[in-house]
Amino acid sequence: MENRFVMHLVLFGLLAGFVLTAYSWNKTAEANGGVVQAVNHIETENGQDGAAAPSGEEPAAATKKIALTFDDGPGKYTEKLLDGLKERNVKATFFVIGLNAESHRDTLKRAAEEGHLIGNHTYNHVRLIKMSVGDACTELRNTNELIFQITGQRPVYVRPPYGEWSDALSGSCYMTRVLWSIDPLDWSIHNTEQIVEHVVEHAKDGSIILLHDVFEESVDAALEIIDRLQQMGFTFVRIDQMGENPKIHVN
Ligand SMILES: [Zn+2]
Repeated sequence: MENRFVMHLVLFGLLAGFVLTAYSWNKTAEANGGVVQAVNHIETENGQDGAAAPSGEEPAAATKKIALTFDDGPGKYTEKLLDGLKERNVKATFFVIGLNAESHRDTLKRAAEEGHLIGNHTYNHVRLIKMSVGDACTELRNTNELIFQITGQRPVYVRPPYGEWSDALSGSCYMTRVLWSIDPLDWSIHNTEQIVEHVVEHAKDGSIILLHDVFEESVDAALEIIDRLQQMGFTFVRIDQMGENPKIHVN
């Protein structure tokens, strides 16, 4: 599959006469350590597989989208994370706790000003399905109001603590629920290298990565994850730039 995809890309480049396309592919192959791919590339150029295949079976490298999401902040390491994201020109999504937003107002404001998406992770990190629907909606509404006061953005996305959500909440609280597809358990292992390896190993087009910016190991891991996955052709997007995704549930 990988080889076929590479051949599609190369054929397209040759047919269209875009020297730049071939050049960027070469860069991708190098980044992947793709010696075998490079050999196939040469064979394709020599015309051993001249049949044009239908395109679109796999996304081109440049369109592989992935989202970094951070729960439980803002915290004391969030500024370090924002610095690293800025250096790399990467936008992420922060699902903040109201209580922490109160105590880190400037950090939250900065995150919003620098183009990150702010979502709701409840005011007190509560288990929403253990409350009445009315109380749960109030918890979310109060958090939205606080985030709006600080950032001028009114969140539409919620990451329910522990992923616990229900159809009744969807129907009553009018927020879009966002789960995740890669969970390295960073809050538990506190080991930068293990977090990075887990995420890089599981990364796919459309993955939503769950991390917690209240831990320094997680912040360090996030920046390393960006560097590694960008080399592999991934583009980091905010949740609202993800498009259709089974982990994002609109009412
Ligand atoms: Zn949480």
